[in-house]
Amino acid sequence: MTLFVAADTSGAGLGNVFPMSAEVDLFSISHQDLGDGVHKGFGENPPDNNLIQVTYDRSDPGIPATRLDTLVNTNFGVNVNDVDVIIVAAGANFTLSDGTLTIGNGFTFPVGVTDNPTGSVLVVYDTSDNNGTGICVRKEGDGAGTFSIEEPENVILYHELSHAFHLANGDPLSSVASGCTASPEENRAETDENDMRDQLGLPHRDATDHCGNPGCQSSVSSCCIIASVASGSIYSETVKTLRNVRDGVLRCSECGFDFFNHLYEDYYAFSPEVCRLMARSPDLQELIRARFLVPLTTVLDLMQAHCIEQLSAEDLGLRFASRVTEAPELSRTSASDIDVALAIIGGDSAIETSTAIAAELGLLLRQRASPSPYVQWALMRPIAMILEALSWHLDGMTTRQIGSHLGMLFEDWATQMPLSSVWNSLSKYSLNEELGFLERTLLRTTESRRRFGQRLVEVLMADRAVLVGERWRG
Ligand SMILES: [Zn+2]
Repeated sequence: MTLFVAADTSGAGLGNVFPMSAEVDLFSISHQDLGDGVHKGFGENPPDNNLIQVTYDRSDPGIPATRLDTLVNTNFGVNVNDVDVIIVAAGANFTLSDGTLTIGNGFTFPVGVTDNPTGSVLVVYDTSDNNGTGICVRKEGDGAGTFSIEEPENVILYHELSHAFHLANGDPLSSVASGCTASPEENRAETDENDMRDQLGLPHRDATDHCGNPGCQSSVSSCCIIASVASGSIYSETVKTLRNVRDGVLRCSECGFDFFNHLYEDYYAFSPEVCRLMARSPDLQELIRARFLVPLTTVLDLMQAHCIEQLSAEDLGLRFASRVTEAPELSRTSASDIDVALAIIGGDSAIETSTAIAAELGLLLRQRASPSPYVQWALMRPIAMILEALSWHLDGMTTRQIGSHLGMLFEDWATQMPLSSVWNSLSKYSLNEELGFLERTLLRTTESRRRFGQRLVEVLMADRAVLVGERWRG
């Protein structure tokens, strides 16, 4: 049991880390292996001393899954603590201790080098997709100097894990090469990388070429669609939506970043257990996908339509209706399905109409997820809003009425954003920037600014509170 994800920087540098991204990428390396009833599949233990141990009882026969199995279940003896490999999932702003930016790249360090303060083999890789613009490499069969295929973050991680495996195993090859020629060690990692590309349905990389080209805009979207379709999993699509919100919207805001850090922390209090429950029950896996993940991606899209595109009530209702038509998970949802789903996320322990394992999920959420205002606001409440809208839809409400009701729910929801202590740590300048950011995103109306402003003034120190009052007098 020797593979770990760092919940912090692990001293490897400065910048944001997103352990959940590593969790998702490892899950995709396992080929979304949630077990088969005999084997438990992919999982992880709760954080311990800022390290999250990956667990894996493999049922998938694929090459990447088998490599992951070896990494997780072999004791390589890199150190006496049996922490052989640590993964740091870096954000776009991450800088190694020697000043190297990790953006658009992945690094694997042996024990004892400057950039590795841990006693383990250390992987640091970029999870920002080169800050959203992609990174391209040479495709097998293409000429030298051409970079036409995307290098997604799960492929970067799998590539680095090849280096990590051989370092832990004590058999790295020579890293000496010049120009774009891949060294023997790089050639082996890129050959391994192509196994992951096969699993994702992506074209092979030319394993003799080690260069990459930042900015891959022309091929990003098509590659991403292929990857999600090929992985056959809504998880990748859901995660991508979440990541877009995080990177495209909330990254722009200091408070947004702080918010997501809180959310990740609280998410870890229950997500490994939910994975374990899903591994025990394919029915539960389907229930979570259809009733929670699909509604979550839907609601994020509709919130974007309401807050950023500022659709009218009629158009918001129409957008909702077309989302329902497009997604069989939504259009097939019955009134009793909605009741069960709402009971589960409401943490209702007495779910009469459902199975024992669904009741177990309800209990787990009540104990570990519901107490977090971050999880409540960012995940539970938005999902509940879509479930409520679905029940209006079933009751025959018009699209205009649904749009108007949803708009009001979104407005109300936006004003309830949890407030952490970070708000008091901002300079007056930054506070003004944050308020401006919120005006352009979540708080589009005078009324929502007034209501959020009231909450903010209660937690802010006097001189900052004055600033909010001046800006959002109401
Ligand atoms: Zn490499």
